[in-house]
Amino acid sequence: MPRYSDDSRDKVREAVDFADLVGQRTELRRAGVNRLVGLCPFHDERSPSFGIDPVEKLYHCFGCGVGGDLFTFVMETESIGFGEALELLADRYAVELERSEEDPRAAEKRARRDRLLALLERTAAFYVRMLWEAPDAAGARDYLAGRGLLEPTLREFRVGYSPASWDRVTVASQRAGFSESELLASGLASRARGRSGLVDRFRGRLMFPWADSRGRVLGFGARALGEGDQPKYLNSAEGEVFSKGRQVYGTHVARSPAAKAGAVVLVEGYTDVIALHQAGVRHAVGQMGTALTDGQAAELAKLAPSVTLCLDADTAGQDATLRAAATLRALGSSAPEVRVAALPPGSDPADLAVADAAGAAALLADAVPLARWQVELALTRGDLSSGEGRDRVLDQIKPVIVRVPAGLLREELVQLVAGRLRMSEALVTAAFSGAAPAGPGRNGARPLDQRRATDHREDAEREFLALCLALPCAGAARLAELEPDAMFASAVVRRAAVHLRDHLDSPTAGLPGDDAPLLALIAELVLRAHALEEAEPSKLDWTALVLERARLDRAIASARAAQTPLSELAAERQTVLTELRRLTH
Ligand code: ZN
Repeated sequence: MPRYSDDSRDKVREAVDFADLVGQRTELRRAGVNRLVGLCPFHDERSPSFGIDPVEKLYHCFGCGVGGDLFTFVMETESIGFGEALELLADRYAVELERSEEDPRAAEKRARRDRLLALLERTAAFYVRMLWEAPDAAGARDYLAGRGLLEPTLREFRVGYSPASWDRVTVASQRAGFSESELLASGLASRARGRSGLVDRFRGRLMFPWADSRGRVLGFGARALGEGDQPKYLNSAEGEVFSKGRQVYGTHVARSPAAKAGAVVLVEGYTDVIALHQAGVRHAVGQMGTALTDGQAAELAKLAPSVTLCLDADTAGQDATLRAAATLRALGSSAPEVRVAALPPGSDPADLAVADAAGAAALLADAVPLARWQVELALTRGDLSSGEGRDRVLDQIKPVIVRVPAGLLREELVQLVAGRLRMSEALVTAAFSGAAPAGPGRNGARPLDQRRATDHREDAEREFLALCLALPCAGAARLAELEPDAMFASAVVRRAAVHLRDHLDSPTAGLPGDDAPLLALIAELVLRAHALEEAEPSKLDWTALVLERARLDRAIASARAAQTPLSELAAERQTVLTELRRLTH
């Protein structure tokens, strides 16, 4: 990762439309001059406790406690580091980044990667042009039309055609200055058998580019068009930029809709993904291949907190569904919730989406929780005619049901099993007796969702600083005279007080880049201040007295422990109490 200048960072901060950026994750509505609110993208909630300041570009959730600025927002929602967040934002808001000094080895590596990406990009554009213009792509166009796929959607996914000649891409790329080594590393060419030079890897095939979440082409999947052409599917060789095990197909198009829907749909093939998008199901991606890899599972979990599996309806597809669910569950605390949309036997998502767009959307909306699908599958596959067969089915279902937390779903499943096995519910419950573990990982186990335990005292400290921001004249005077070390028991609040003393007008200016807790607190204070703008100045006096009382309580406790005289402190405390009483009347 190259290093970028501080100037670049400021330019990006300047250029980003924060309301637009956050708006891609959650619907926002205006709730004040500099405040927009919406449902928190970091925890499940029904009424909005999440707010942003679009001018300072800060966010804070009063429900789960997360907060920060535009950079931490992207880092948290995309699960990436600061450098990548900076690059992603620069890319999206068209800011040219300026590199600060870089170590030569890293610079060389990055330059090579940029060259490979440029080669892949121009080749993808070439394949697209071939598909729509070349006479020998007529078969490819007919195939796509036969599947009911339309040009606008195919263009969005940059579907293309590789001409049947041996070395068209190789020759053109070399003429454009790309080396043999670059052609090999990009996965576009391979060494010719029995002669010198390279040949195109893809010839006479339908080309599906694989892109990263920013839409940069990393490699291709290619489908044969002729009857006897083998293999039917050919991928870019794994290389310096392409690794199929870490990519899901269609991420760059589905990313934003999936974030908004809070769900992503996983299907098997290229045409399934494209047909669903054409039918308006914009949060669909493809696993491409018979098994979901660990890397792909992690990618899915990043896209949305819920994954709907919509694989083929045959036995192989059912087994693939079970394996995919197990791979997703293995993600542990970051595992998404899994649902299954069962297709009618013999159909695939692409045909269904083309024939009946509304039907496909309804089928996905009717997806059932994984546990329910597993129970139904075991009941359908099992032999229910004999006692032995029914026992085997019960054994299979037990581990599924004990994982379901006690509640409506579990009861429903017990009823279903009892009905189908012709047993009493009490008997089934007894067969399944076993402690249910706590709910699934996603709901509550993410570190982000951990409610910050802010006690009453610390809350008063935060309230005080928020009031200083809301009432800047009185606030500046207060901050100038107070002694942070004595006044605030919490270390981060102390740092915030010191920072705000100098930056009350522009609270994000001059923040140290490596103090995430301080940044999160400043974000919280700014959002709290917006809600306090109508506050009476006396509220600031009152909160200051509350803090003063707390300070004296701490001083009295330590004086008592050290057995030193208390009378002076006690008298001071009495004065504070009198003041407080006067203010409340
Ligand atoms: Zn939240």
